[in-house]
Amino acid sequence: MSGEAPGCCILCRQPCPGGRQGLYVNGCHICRDCEEKIVSIDIDDSVYQIYMQKLKKIWSQAG
Ligand SMILES: [Zn+2]
Repeated sequence: MSGEAPGCCILCRQPCPGGRQGLYVNGCHICRDCEEKIVSIDIDDSVYQIYMQKLKKIWSQAG
């Protein structure tokens, strides 16, 4: 357990009101803001690399 509260976005760590917006990846929540950032972000942006690292970590946990 990493201690992250369920319902909080795994990228920005903000709690998501309503909890149903955005994406769920292996039970981890990504809020709509971050979802939109991921799809619209420039690959050359350093934030993109940070997001991808976090996403890879989640995906790797799925086995
Ligand atoms: Zn977020």
